[in-house]
Amino acid sequence: MPEFAEVETFRRQLEPLLINQKITSFESFHPRTTRRHLSPNEIRDAIVGSRVGEVKRHGKYIDIVFDSGIHLNIHLRMSGRILSYEKDSYDPRNNPPHAHVIFTTDKYIFLFVDPRTFGEMWLTSEALVHEGIDVLAPTAQRKKVLDAMSKSSRSIKAILLDQKYTSGIGNIYADEICAEAQLLPSRPMNSLTATELDRLNKAIDVVRTEAIEARGSSLKDKSFRDMHGELGHHQMKHRVHARAGKPCPNCGAQILKTRVAGRGTYFCPHCQH
Ligand SMILES: [Zn+2]
Repeated sequence: MPEFAEVETFRRQLEPLLINQKITSFESFHPRTTRRHLSPNEIRDAIVGSRVGEVKRHGKYIDIVFDSGIHLNIHLRMSGRILSYEKDSYDPRNNPPHAHVIFTTDKYIFLFVDPRTFGEMWLTSEALVHEGIDVLAPTAQRKKVLDAMSKSSRSIKAILLDQKYTSGIGNIYADEICAEAQLLPSRPMNSLTATELDRLNKAIDVVRTEAIEARGSSLKDKSFRDMHGELGHHQMKHRVHARAGKPCPNCGAQILKTRVAGRGTYFCPHCQH
């Protein structure tokens, strides 16, 4: 499932192609992708001819803001991704399967591809209100949120995954953040010392920066590819995630897999306490 780093990769690739461009067509071929609307024509009628002002992201949501004030929200959920082609080099016969939405500008074709159809696109007249703070928000702001959670008896991993606190972190980066902080993901938040809480905050900074620089993670199933079809490469830097039985890059001990907060969770039994 795409997390902040993968969604931010799409945002950064969409932005230069969409800013100041008018949408020239919008077609949906699967009712689930536009399920919040009675008909995909509602989206088409509202955005065709409108110019894109901004391409934003909060957590795992992309927000394409039009000059008209309308917002086109995109959530990739389990398996959604976006592909782009220059119009001159586009051949619809090469479309991948499950291309459920196609929209265009003068120069580019964009496909929304989603095998499992949990992903969606929908319009709102105002920006969505998000409870959680974005994982890329300034460190001091995010630190306040985690400090406020330091009295919780829930596990570190459950808090990291809860979009109400920090938006954008999913299973991969929660594991990597705990490994970087050398903390067991199952530790209750209220068991952390001030120093450990500080390590957790710093680890979020480290992991968010390296994950975005690496354009996200493509695991074995290679389900994440960026807008140009390229794999991300953060998986090559993973300390623990999806590395059960392999050596910890820090100490060489075998990485173990367990279950925390209902999710498959990887950790080093030697480095993480
Ligand atoms: Zn280790």
